Amino acid sequence: MSIVAVGSVAFDTIASPSGKVEGVLGGAATYFALAASYFTDVRVVAIVGEDFTSEHENVLKKRGVDTRGIEHAKGKTFRWGGQYLDNLNEAKTDFTDLNVFQNFQPHIPTHYQDSQFLFLANIQPDLQAMVRREMKTVRMTGGDTMNYWINNARQQLAETLKLVDVLLINDTEAKSLAGETNLPRAALKVLAMGPQALVIKHGEYGATIFFREGAYGIGRHPFRAPALPIDEVKDPTGAGDSFAGGFMGYIASQGELSREVLKRALKHAKRVALLRRRQCFTGDQIPTGEVGDGERIAVAVIGEQELAFVVGAPQPIRRQRLR
Ligand code: AMP
Repeated sequence: MSIVAVGSVAFDTIASPSGKVEGVLGGAATYFALAASYFTDVRVVAIVGEDFTSEHENVLKKRGVDTRGIEHAKGKTFRWGGQYLDNLNEAKTDFTDLNVFQNFQPHIPTHYQDSQFLFLANIQPDLQAMVRREMKTVRMTGGDTMNYWINNARQQLAETLKLVDVLLINDTEAKSLAGETNLPRAALKVLAMGPQALVIKHGEYGATIFFREGAYGIGRHPFRAPALPIDEVKDPTGAGDSFAGGFMGYIASQGELSREVLKRALKHAKRVALLRRRQCFTGDQIPTGEVGDGERIAVAVIGEQELAFVVGAPQPIRRQRLR
C-alpha cells in the first residue's frame, strides 16, 4: 500500500567524522522515501529549485519513488548545513537557507489521494495539519517534528498532534514537548496530546514505542527495540528520517494495523537507521574517493536482507548487500 511523504528535499553540507561533504542530496523526505521504498510504493510531496536536476530526481525515481508531487519552483533548493563532530546523535545546525522552501505550500496531487499512509516529515506544523486534512482517507499518519517547532510553534504543533497517529521523535524532543524530564511520564503526556502511539528514538541505543491504552491492541505496555552502539559511525545525517521510512514503509507493506506489526516495524526501523549510521564500507566495496566527496550512503532492509545504496552525485545509486 502506498505512502505519501511530505517534507524537505535539500542539498546538505555536512561535517562529520568521515569528513566534509558539500551540497549533497539530502532532506528528510529524500531519506524517508529511499528507506521506505524498499518496503512499499512511496510518493513524495516537496519543493525544489532550478538547481535540482533530473539526475537528482533520478535518485528517487530509480527506487520507484513517485516524484510527480515535487514542485519545481524558481530559485534555489533548500540548503542545510550541519555538523556531527561533538555529538553523533544530534546535529548542530550551521546554517539553514530556506530558499524555495520558504514558500512551500504542499499540494497533494489527485493521483496521490488514494494513499492509505501518510508521513509528515519535519516541517512547519500548520503545513503538516493542512496536508493531513487534505488526505481524507488515510489509515495511518506518521509525523516528525523538532525542537525549533516545539519551542516556537507550540500551539500549532498541539493542533497538529491531534491529527497524527504515530509521532516519531527523540528523547530530548519528547522531554521538551512534555515539559517533563522522566521519559515514561513524558511519553504519557505526549500521548495525551493526540497520537495513538509514540516512538521515542534513543539515538544509537534503539527506540521505544509507547501506546495509548487499547491503541492497536490490548493495554498500553511499551516495547523497546534496543540497538548496540557502534564504533564506526561516520555520517548520521538522515538516520532519523531513514528510521521513519523503515518504520512506516514496513507498516504500509503489511496491510494490517496491529501492535505486532508496529513492534516488528520498530525493529526494521532500527536496523535501517543503524545501517545508515554505520556506512560500513571501505576500500574496494565503494569506489575510492566517492564517499565523502559528493556521495553518501543510505540504507534499507528488505525482509531479512540488509542493503545499502549510495545517493548523491555523480553516481546516483548503487546497491550493495551487506550480509
Ligand atoms: P536528521 O538527520 O533526521 O536530523 O535529518 C537531517 C535532514 O533534515 C537533512 O538532510 C536536512 O536537509 C533536513 N533538515 C534539516 N533542517 C531542516 C528543517 N528545518 N526543515 C526541514 N528539513 C530539515
